Amino acid sequence: MTRSNDPSNANGAGKGLTVPCPQCQQPVAWTTENAYRPFCSKRCKLIDLGAWADGSHRIPGEPHMDETELDELIDRLERGE
Ligand SMILES: [Zn+2]
Repeated sequence: MTRSNDPSNANGAGKGLTVPCPQCQQPVAWTTENAYRPFCSKRCKLIDLGAWADGSHRIPGEPHMDETELDELIDRLERGE
């Protein structure tokens, strides 16, 4: 007996395409509701932004943003700065 290939049962996503978050590799549903796709969350998206916006949002010499910096960056972006 073959299982029917039901797309609603794929990857546990329920609908549509699922992609791995480029930052944390979590499966991310690729939907219009996900404003942060292909990232799983705003946080992962901002980590990636921080990676290319090198120097403007990062302390030189710091290899990674820490949690506090990231929260500050999120606050700043939400205020539109
Ligand atoms: Zn992620």
